[in-house]
Amino acid sequence: MILKNYIAGQFVTGETLFPNINPVDGSLVAEVSEASESMVDQAVMAARAALQGQWGQMPVNTRCDLLHAVADGIQQRFDEFVDAEIADTGKPLDQARLMDIPRGAANFKFFADLVRTTGSECFETHTADGDALNYSINKPLGVVAVIAPWNLPLLLLTWKVAPALASGNTVVAKPSEETPSTASLLAEVVNSVGMPAGVFNLVHGFGPGSAGEFLTRHPGVDAVTFTGESRTGSAIMKSVADTVKPVSFELGGKNAALIFADADFDDAVAGTARSTFTNCGQVCLCTERVYVQRPIFERFVAALKTAADSIVIGRPYDADTHIGPLISRGHRDKVLSYYQLARDEGATVIAGGGVPVFGDERDKGAWVQPTILTGLAEDARCIKEEIFGPVCHIAPFDTEEEAIRLANDSEYGLAGAVWTSDLKRAHRVATQIEAGIVWVNTWYLRDLRTPFGGVKLSGIGREGGVHSLAFYSEPTNICIKL
Ligand code: NAD
Repeated sequence: MILKNYIAGQFVTGETLFPNINPVDGSLVAEVSEASESMVDQAVMAARAALQGQWGQMPVNTRCDLLHAVADGIQQRFDEFVDAEIADTGKPLDQARLMDIPRGAANFKFFADLVRTTGSECFETHTADGDALNYSINKPLGVVAVIAPWNLPLLLLTWKVAPALASGNTVVAKPSEETPSTASLLAEVVNSVGMPAGVFNLVHGFGPGSAGEFLTRHPGVDAVTFTGESRTGSAIMKSVADTVKPVSFELGGKNAALIFADADFDDAVAGTARSTFTNCGQVCLCTERVYVQRPIFERFVAALKTAADSIVIGRPYDADTHIGPLISRGHRDKVLSYYQLARDEGATVIAGGGVPVFGDERDKGAWVQPTILTGLAEDARCIKEEIFGPVCHIAPFDTEEEAIRLANDSEYGLAGAVWTSDLKRAHRVATQIEAGIVWVNTWYLRDLRTPFGGVKLSGIGREGGVHSLAFYSEPTNICIKL
């Protein structure tokens, strides 16, 4: 099977292929056609042309009906999408079935419905020079480049494609080279619902020197929306600097959880196990730093160890599997290098710390053990740098002020979690954590209407609800003298 690019309404292949590897056992899922520079150029030109065609004139309701049809098309091919996401990532069936694919489809309905019902501003103006009516209309930005990561492939791609299209833009999307399959299925769905050619284009490839870089530095692109590593965000920012394009960046994290002694102990343990190990730790919102108030520190470490040791690392379709492998051998090398670095930096390994041995085909895959560390100094690299694996470090704290200081002592600022049964403390602490989102007594409970993004190295801008519409549109003020 060859996964193709989708440009100007046509499925096309280029001269180069690259392999898509299954991280469960290292087997080949498919070969992928890498888009050349000229193919990326054709995709951008097709997207520009589509702005001037039927799409640009389409009434908003018709546009939104098409996006509903895309969501329905994903639902109709639900099992194919689930299997494709699992083949690329090795994630457990339930996660793909209950989260990745349904939420990927839901993004189209959510943003279509939001655009249908969101109005614009209007002010009645009274000045010494006379009266006026000032209102704004929202125009699309134009051609939006969407660059997505591999951890939640369909969900994070559609999180940007859907609001961009709902706002009337055209899109050239590049999924991660690690996870091209569901994006390719999405192109088939888009093609089947009668979307005008060039409105949605898909190019496959890598970052530097490949489709990602060709796309972000293309002069015909009007805006770039990106989710991925902070240093990639920095590279993209440099490549768009000369043309001063708007960017929306959702980047890395080194998220802290603060567990106060007054928290519901069992909830805090279960919630922290979830926030550390979900998706094998490969969610940008995952907890990598856990701070526990000293009276319950030893008990908490023991309980989280019990939780980690009971996690079933298994094949995606096995009913008892909790977590699958990491995305690739390359990423496993990175995570294992941090496990080693932690030892070198003086950590005590409370749980895991290595690679599971199965004695079967999975030994060719990208598996690691869920890992818990203690004993590191706060300036250790394992405390400072994003690892993006199923691993956390647990340290004690004494006072609320200390906990807040520790949480904020990071170059990142994406997410935080606070576990306490004191409502006043919950609010007081949450408001002081430097992060785009803070959960209290829960984790990863999302409402798509809320602002989503990070501070510091974790991103620029907010998406979600009207914040997405604000990024993907260009408001124009019209002032009518009355
Ligand atoms: P990555 O930055 O390596 O790659 C992301 C995408 O960017 C891929 O499609 C890649 O091909 C492309 N890319 C790489 N270099 C590029 C360049 N120079 N120009 C243009 N495109 C380029 O990230 P990843 O490893 O796929 O994803 C994991 C990272 O994403 C982690 O740091 C994680 O925290 C972050 N993430 C953040 C969020 C969020 O919402 N803040 C969500 C998910 C993942």
